[in-house]
Amino acid sequence: MAAAPKPEILAAFEAAKGFMPADEGLALYAAAAEAGALGLPLVEVGTYCGRSTILLADAAREAGVMAVTVDHHRGSEEQQPGWEYHDPTVVDPEVGRMDTLPTFRRTLHAAGLEEHVIALVGRSPQAAALWRAPVGLVFIDGGHTDEHATADYEGWAPHVAADGLLVIHDVFADPADGGQAPYRVYRRALESGAFTEISAHRSLHVLRRTGPGI
Ligand code: SAH
Ligand code: MG
Repeated sequence: MAAAPKPEILAAFEAAKGFMPADEGLALYAAAAEAGALGLPLVEVGTYCGRSTILLADAAREAGVMAVTVDHHRGSEEQQPGWEYHDPTVVDPEVGRMDTLPTFRRTLHAAGLEEHVIALVGRSPQAAALWRAPVGLVFIDGGHTDEHATADYEGWAPHVAADGLLVIHDVFADPADGGQAPYRVYRRALESGAFTEISAHRSLHVLRRTGPGI
């Protein structure tokens, strides 16, 4: 049976602000628990307020590895004021821009998982360019434009170790269901020959590294 989070972790996840539905979250947790067995860090692109980070952090804690989560905390295009996914409670009134970092820190603290997470605050491609360590799992859930999704894939997928997992959220084959950038990245990962799909739960797809390169 797939690994599942304990009730208190599930409760913290469900109480957290964010965009990860519970059923897809369980699929993410199972993937993270499996990848944790490789003894390598688990990397998330797209922290937002830490909702999915809770799941990666708990799986990391169980496996004795670290979760690393990357975000500039200024929000994606569709989260800016006036757009569909804007939340006015995560605007820094002094700066006049979104800042999800304080909410993220409260989320992790409430879940008791702070010490299992390293937060990288900055742009994903710049963080990826400095990254040198092999990774057990890369979870791509950052910006949904082609520019951002492609850069996340090109930056982070090369770091997935042999047998490690690449998990992509918001993959919609049908444009009527959502934007196509994550879907195009997912197709590209499969076509590279480096990754093989092992499971999917709605828009959350789990690929394993089965070949070299990307
Ligand atoms: N995983 C979260 C949702 C992430 S929303 C959850 O479970 O709720 C996407 C996030 O990606 C936003 O917080 C946004 O600030 C971040 N983001 C978008 N483009 C980025 C980039 N190029 N570098 C770093 N973070 C980025
Ligand atoms: Mg998402």
